[in-house]
Amino acid sequence: MKNRNPLLRAGFVASLLLTGYLFSPIARSQTSVQPGPDDILQAFARIRPIDVHVHVFKTEASFQAMLEKLNLKLMNILVMDDTLPYRNELQPQIKDAFSLTRSSKGHVALCTTFDPYKFNDPNFISESVKQLDRDFRDGAIAVKIWKNIGMEIKTPDGKFIMADDPRFKPIYKDIAQHGKTLMSHQAEPDVAWGPPDPSDPSWSYYQENPQWFLYNKPGVPSKQQILAARDHVLAEHPNLRMVGVHLGSMEKSLDDIAAHLDRYPNFAIDTAARMEYLMITPPEKVRAFLIKYQDRVLYGTDLDLLASANVDESLNEWRSTYARDWRFLATEENFDYQGKKVRGLNLPQPVLRKIFHENAVHWIPGIVSIPRSFK
Ligand SMILES: [Zn+2]
Repeated sequence: MKNRNPLLRAGFVASLLLTGYLFSPIARSQTSVQPGPDDILQAFARIRPIDVHVHVFKTEASFQAMLEKLNLKLMNILVMDDTLPYRNELQPQIKDAFSLTRSSKGHVALCTTFDPYKFNDPNFISESVKQLDRDFRDGAIAVKIWKNIGMEIKTPDGKFIMADDPRFKPIYKDIAQHGKTLMSHQAEPDVAWGPPDPSDPSWSYYQENPQWFLYNKPGVPSKQQILAARDHVLAEHPNLRMVGVHLGSMEKSLDDIAAHLDRYPNFAIDTAARMEYLMITPPEKVRAFLIKYQDRVLYGTDLDLLASANVDESLNEWRSTYARDWRFLATEENFDYQGKKVRGLNLPQPVLRKIFHENAVHWIPGIVSIPRSFK
C-alpha cells in the first residue's frame, strides 16, 4: 500500500458533495438521465463486486453492513513496513487479519506476506515457507511482496535486494505449489523517479512520503531495473500466478502493459489506486485495451480502513470511490475529475463481469469460497 493522495481523494469526495452526488436525497427530476448515487451503487452491487486490493485494520459493524449492502467481497492485503511500528511486526498483523476474516461472514479474504527484512537471517527461507504454509492452512489465499523489495531493503554491502534474489526463489516455488497467487507491488509510478511533476495523480503522495521519492537520490535502482527483476520472476516461475498490482507499475503505458500480458501468460494486473491514470488516458484507447485484455485485469482500489480512522468518513470515501469507478467503467456519463473531463467507458456487461468479479475468481482461487471455518 498505499499510493493515493488523500488531498485528491478528499477533493473528489468534496466535488461529489458539491454536485450533490453523494448524500443529497436526490431530487431527481423525471426527465433527468443522470443516475443518482444509489442507482450507481446498486448497479455496482448487482455485479457481485470483488475488490482484490484493500487494507483493513479494524472490525466495525458499519463496515460489515456496507459489505453486505454492496454484495462486496474484499481481499485484505498485509504489508511489512519498517517505518510503522504495527506494520513492522508480522504475527500481530496476521492474527488481527484472520480475526477480521472470521468475523466477515465470507466477505473478507486474506492475502498474507512474509518478512523480507529478515532476508539475511540463516533461517529466512525455511521460516518464511513454514509461516506461509501455516497461513495457507489457516485460509490465506495469496501472498504480497511490496516495493520495499527493490526500493528500500539493502544487503550488508549496500546493494538493493531485488524481487529475483535467489533467496526468494524457494518462497515463490512454495506459493506456486500451493496454487496461491503472488500479489506483486514492485516499483512506483514514474513520477517517483522525478523530476517533480505536480500534475501527476500520485505527486502529492511523494510530498507526504518523501522516503519513496527517488529523484536525485544517488545509487537507487532505476524503475526499469526493478521491473526487469519482477519480469525475471515471471519468466522463471511460469506456474506462479502473479498479479502486478497498481497496473503492474506501468501506469503510463497501456502498450507496455499489453506487451507484458502478451509475453507472460501467468501475469495479470490490478487497478488499485491507478484508476486515475486510466481516467486521464484517451478513453478510446483504455476501452480497447480493457476489451482486448478483459481476462487479465482485476478490480482493486487500495482503499483502507485504518485503526485510527473516522469510520464514517472512511466509508464515505469507500462508497464514493466505488461509485466513481463504476461511473467510469460502466456508464457513458461525462464527469469532472480533478478539473479534467472524464468520459465513461460504457464497457460491455460481460467485460464488466470479468473485471469486477470473474477475473478475481480465476486469478485468486479461494476468493469467493472463503474457508468454511470463517463463515
Ligand atoms: Zn496497497
